[in-house]
Amino acid sequence: MMTTTGLPCDKHRLRDMRKPIIAGNWKMNTSISEGVALSRAVAAKVGHVESVEVVVCPPFVSLQPVAAAVRETNLKVGAQNVSEHDAGAFTGEVSVSMVSDLVDYAIVGHSERRLNFGESNAQVALKVRSAIAGGLTPILCVGESEETRDAGNAEQFVRGQVSECLREHHARQPLVIAYEPIWAIGTGQAATLPQIEYMVESIREELADAFDPTMGEATPILYGGSVNPANIDEYAASDCIDGALVGGASLNADDFVAIVNAQAAAVSQP
Ligand code: PEP
Repeated sequence: MMTTTGLPCDKHRLRDMRKPIIAGNWKMNTSISEGVALSRAVAAKVGHVESVEVVVCPPFVSLQPVAAAVRETNLKVGAQNVSEHDAGAFTGEVSVSMVSDLVDYAIVGHSERRLNFGESNAQVALKVRSAIAGGLTPILCVGESEETRDAGNAEQFVRGQVSECLREHHARQPLVIAYEPIWAIGTGQAATLPQIEYMVESIREELADAFDPTMGEATPILYGGSVNPANIDEYAASDCIDGALVGGASLNADDFVAIVNAQAAAVSQP
């Protein structure tokens, strides 16, 4: 299939290389007991799924009990952030080594951290490096604001974020990218399939230019922004998008399970 960018995109050829991922970002929600209950409810329904990598990202205080709750299942756990530092006088921060026994993934560079906590691309690049050094797979978030898109600069902006946030990165190290346009996060105004496919292919080009073509092809690229059970089918059927980073809908077990099941159903399509 040709995408909206005119680039070839062949899910069947690439399926072995990029397993789809559905990751839930719980943000600053759920008490410890609520988090354990949510993870158990998700695990009970989709804890056996193998064709999709299912990841839950609870708040730091719930990482340990949630990791324990899903240990015997296929569910993976991710942190919502990590410090770029290993240890020391960084009050309130959590380092990779503190969570690396509990999680496989770490979200880095989420737009809420960039906007609310002033994280720069340079800082995010160090977080990517720390996550990898500690054995975690970073889920690097990139995405433009509404103003940037309206000004016609979305592609240039996102490609810049990718190259700057990966300047400490080496090809063949584990990496997931989530394209999350800021205007689509938590707004109910999800991006259209052509908008997402265009940007995903552009990110692949950037990876190929900055590293090598293998990295452009091998890196899973997710979409995030108001994904829900009603719109996931369209995204899951795309030959280009490798899953979703889900915020609000990941707090409801039934909705999150429906999203995982839709992605799994798309994988099993001939
Ligand atoms: C997010 O926070 O990463 C996100 C995509 O949120 P939502 O699904 O609520 O838009």
